Amino acid sequence: MKTVDLRSDTVTKPTMEMREAMAHAEVGDDVLGEDPTVKRLEATAAAMIGKEAALFVASGTMGNQVAVLSHTARGNEVIVDDQAHIFYYEVGAPAILSAVQLRPVTGLHGPDAPKLIKAAVRDRDNIHYPETSLICLENTHNRGSGTIMAPEQMQEIYELAKQYRLSVHVDGARIFNAAVALGRQPGEFSRWCDSIMFCLSKGLGAPVGSMLAGSRDFIDRARKYRKALGGGMRQAGILAAAGLVALGSVNRLAEDHVHAKMLAQSLAGIPGVQVDLNKVQTNIIVADVSGTGMTSEEFVSVLEQRGVLAITFGPTLIRLVTHRDVSREDVEYAIDVINNIN
Ligand SMILES: *Cc1c(COP(=O)(O)O)cnc(C)c1O
Repeated sequence: MKTVDLRSDTVTKPTMEMREAMAHAEVGDDVLGEDPTVKRLEATAAAMIGKEAALFVASGTMGNQVAVLSHTARGNEVIVDDQAHIFYYEVGAPAILSAVQLRPVTGLHGPDAPKLIKAAVRDRDNIHYPETSLICLENTHNRGSGTIMAPEQMQEIYELAKQYRLSVHVDGARIFNAAVALGRQPGEFSRWCDSIMFCLSKGLGAPVGSMLAGSRDFIDRARKYRKALGGGMRQAGILAAAGLVALGSVNRLAEDHVHAKMLAQSLAGIPGVQVDLNKVQTNIIVADVSGTGMTSEEFVSVLEQRGVLAITFGPTLIRLVTHRDVSREDVEYAIDVINNIN
């Protein structure tokens, strides 16, 4: 039986081109600053995202956590969306590593963000309060079904943050999905933040790695924190070589977005399944299956029995993600499975 794996865009396998680039990569000790391929990846990533400098990190989580460490001091408060990856899926790392408190805000990834930020920022003169020092945004928003925050919205938030003397970090694990979907340059997004992390190992298909980008000073600080976390990797050019190939595949993300819309429409046709099609803007579909009388686990298992893999996103929510290793034929197969669920 055929299997179509829509659990995540992290399940892609490195292409032959990547494996060949890895095999032939020129390497050195990157902790000593001597790996030419890592240097090339960092320079290429910085130029593509539109920041002065970039740092190759082991994972998106490491990139976000190094950013939080670099932007905050012990005891600070960090404003995040209450569905953000940093709050939801990073094992409480801001408490463990940075000794900061997260302030989860409902609706931060939405049009009310400026109003919500004004209400959440702490008064520095009040002796009882922690000091707010950072806002973290997520673009695209994973639990929000891959929804995009437009550059104009980011600008409004950034300008407000600067009035309050706050830094802004963007968890841009899928920022290229946002850029491709809106037909905007990545730099139009990254302009409105102090730092941005993006993943090479999701839709772009690299086996390992993410990039953290920002000013040169910021990246110098981040490089030390990366070392502190055990993220100083030696002949990492082997991995960076795959990352460079991955960066060449940004434009094909458009195909994943078309596939996600096709899947979302077929899911929306099942009685009892709710999909907000307006939210399917990139490669992620979140559907509520409560109206089917099945739990999300039961629904996922029905799909799995027919060769379509998805994940649960809560008791009634399921998530499907399109990516490079899902072809049009795979999508058509999955749609056929979905249309025949009863
Ligand atoms: C996947 C993801 C991350 C973390 O990436 P890992 O490489 O899995 O640590 C961070 N933020 C968002 C929004 C993600 O989807």
